Amino acid sequence: MRLRGAQRRVVVWGCAAGMWLGAVFASGWAAEVANPTAVTGGQRVAMAWFNAAGFHQRLLAGLRALETPEGASARAELEKLVGVAMANFAQARTQAEQATCAAQRRLLQGAIEMYHLDNEEALPATGPIDLAKLRAGPYLKGEGSCPRGGTYSLTGPLNKNGEVTCSVHGSAIAPLSPQATATPPMDLGTLIRGILDFEGKNLLRPRGGFWFAVDPQNGFGAFLEADCQPLPLLEFLGAVAPTPLPKPDEQTPGKVSFRLPSPGQGLPAPALTLTGTGIFLDAFRDPGITSPTGPWAELVALAREGTTDFLFEMDGSLLTRELKRKDPPPADPVQKALQSLTRLRVVLGRGPCRAVGAFADPQAIATLKTALEQQLGIIKPLVDKGLYDQLQAMPPEAKAGLEPIRKFLNSLEVVTDGPWLGIGAPGLPENSALIVPAVTRVLAAIAIPNFAKAREKARANHCQANMRMIMGALEMDAMDTGKFPTSLNFDDLLAKKLLREIPVCQEGGTYSAVREPDGEYRITCTVHGPLRR
Ligand SMILES: [Zn+2]
Ligand SMILES: [Zn+2]
Repeated sequence: MRLRGAQRRVVVWGCAAGMWLGAVFASGWAAEVANPTAVTGGQRVAMAWFNAAGFHQRLLAGLRALETPEGASARAELEKLVGVAMANFAQARTQAEQATCAAQRRLLQGAIEMYHLDNEEALPATGPIDLAKLRAGPYLKGEGSCPRGGTYSLTGPLNKNGEVTCSVHGSAIAPLSPQATATPPMDLGTLIRGILDFEGKNLLRPRGGFWFAVDPQNGFGAFLEADCQPLPLLEFLGAVAPTPLPKPDEQTPGKVSFRLPSPGQGLPAPALTLTGTGIFLDAFRDPGITSPTGPWAELVALAREGTTDFLFEMDGSLLTRELKRKDPPPADPVQKALQSLTRLRVVLGRGPCRAVGAFADPQAIATLKTALEQQLGIIKPLVDKGLYDQLQAMPPEAKAGLEPIRKFLNSLEVVTDGPWLGIGAPGLPENSALIVPAVTRVLAAIAIPNFAKAREKARANHCQANMRMIMGALEMDAMDTGKFPTSLNFDDLLAKKLLREIPVCQEGGTYSAVREPDGEYRITCTVHGPLRR
């Protein structure tokens, strides 16, 4: 549910960002945008559709369910997942901010040293730094500010071990604790309330599907069928956007239109239009195509079926071009058969689901059918076993959620229908209240151990680097003094400036060093073990 929330946010923010980018192109799109034919018409190469209204409904139901007592356990799990993801994100951001601040402090230090070379009168040796004086020089170009808004001051004269310190991040010699400088992660409750509040404003409500079409000859376009209030939505986006929106080209109660910069040389500049019936991103070269032709008419019909949630279709020649270019032609009958692929189609939903290709050559279908049956016979038991193992490790209520997915995958079989061949299954389970937490649990089951593993590995690597640093310091000490230190004395190594700071193991291990009979040091962390070579 968090993911869908994120998707929805992406849509909202994508619109905001899209508008913010606005610049070129006078809208060649004069006709009222009333239906998706502008996107689905003509010779598209690939087209995707997803049931935006259905997802929207399920998203809201899911989010509201999380707020009820029954949703408490799902919410707790989701919070854990969001917490891990956000913490990782926040950690990366914190590290980037620390690095930026450190670079700023080095620049400041350099600027102060230059100032002292040029000026008789020294800056105060301690306390706040007179940035205005440094900028006026100009010894300091740019802002010279900390990304977290910390203020800079001097701890003492620079020629006597003084340094620039930040009120948030500290200094190179005395960094402040990472906890003090960490960016607080966003919490789930705020996110849910934000989405539900937006929903309550009734500014944008998906009513049909989201269409996306690509055509190398004719550009690309996307259309979201929705009840939309262009002017109030514009006002809302203006209030939440991080930077002011550009001026729309057209702004009436029924229509707001923006020009966006061209995404690349030779590509048409897109126009973003909000109307009462939806949002249209138009980056087609030729807006004249208005009715779906050939295979796309079938796709539009499938989208209207009411049981479909996701559709994708593409021209098979894009996939087979490389195969066809091969010289000599492939001897493998399966590869040869694949060359006659004309279209690829994926249908997912509560109706029959399938991933199929259309083939021009009937003989190819027979060959591929045999090969596919063999493959499915191998893969299906593997997937089933994987899911079965997952299920065994889960609490009973989680099993109930995952079982329908296992059943769905188990029901996959080879399907043929005229020129179409592929795999299919009866529809996905109707009860999305079961599916959504199940998917969340599967994601959590996969994501949390992976995040934890990645963090563990990063910490172990950091610890190894620490031990290598200790080893280097001990060896340098031996070279300087002519005798080998018999124990690890960090204060001594710091005083001799062989270490800049005491290395800290992120898992709380402590370091020791023993000199082996062969003369080599053996550095060990109590948590991570010995230094590897
Ligand atoms: Zn700082
Ligand atoms: Zn360690």
